[in-house]
Amino acid sequence: MKHRLALVEDNPDNRLLVQAILEDDYEIDEYENGIDALAGMAASPPDLVLLDISLPGMDGTEVLARMRDDDGMRGIPVIALTAHAMTGDRERFLGLGFDHYMTKPIVDVEALVEAIERLLAEAR
Ligand SMILES: [Mg+2]
Repeated sequence: MKHRLALVEDNPDNRLLVQAILEDDYEIDEYENGIDALAGMAASPPDLVLLDISLPGMDGTEVLARMRDDDGMRGIPVIALTAHAMTGDRERFLGLGFDHYMTKPIVDVEALVEAIERLLAEAR
């Protein structure tokens, strides 16, 4: 059975790109904002989350914080996706409790799949 990933991303082009890269190997639930994502994931928890940081309304760090406060979602691995890479970002996002950090646009598909597979294996 395919693992289920939640993709939380407000940019349709980025959603399309991630779908194209991952849809053969994973089932993907798409969410356009944090509120919808938290509601959907609480009802139907994914195996892993790809979480955009810059989202309308509630940003990705807040979505992560709420997941970590929730008994049902606390243990789900979360990969941060961010378009504005800056020095120290990696440490900052890992410090916030993200399990991994990827910059957009995603050019290194292999690195993304490797991170997903590693985190799924660790979560088992
Ligand atoms: Mg965004």
